[in-house]
Amino acid sequence: MPYCPSCGAKNKDGARFCEACGAPLAVAAAPNPPAAPAQTPAAAQSFGSAKGLIIAAAAIYAFTAPLAVFAGPIGFITALLALGVVLLLAYEPLRKGNVGAAKTGVLIGAGLAILYTLIDFAMGAPLAAVLNLAAGVALAVAYMQLK
Ligand SMILES: [Zn+2]
Repeated sequence: MPYCPSCGAKNKDGARFCEACGAPLAVAAAPNPPAAPAQTPAAAQSFGSAKGLIIAAAAIYAFTAPLAVFAGPIGFITALLALGVVLLLAYEPLRKGNVGAAKTGVLIGAGLAILYTLIDFAMGAPLAAVLNLAAGVALAVAYMQLK
């Protein structure tokens, strides 16, 4: 039941103007402004899926490192390097909320994935090459989610 701010007359709910004096009731009857939409959940969700992709890439590197042993020491060393980069330079900073550093780590990890893929193909380890390409794609998607 809004009261007129001008004359104090009682008015019907939803009335826009006072029935007694015609003064606008909009200010007195205005509902509270809606709360600003919170962006945190969406951002947290995006970071969560980026984390998942980074872990997936790390798992692929850990899995392909032994496969690369058969191809030669260069492939194995690259796999360990890529695994270390993904865990220390991408996952760790993201876990601590340092998105800028995590993005750099993800980019380095994706670059190593491409290098690793080429090395595996050259060394005759096509399965490892294809898996590492998948790791590179996972890191590229993770990078796009870290805005
Ligand atoms: Zn009035």
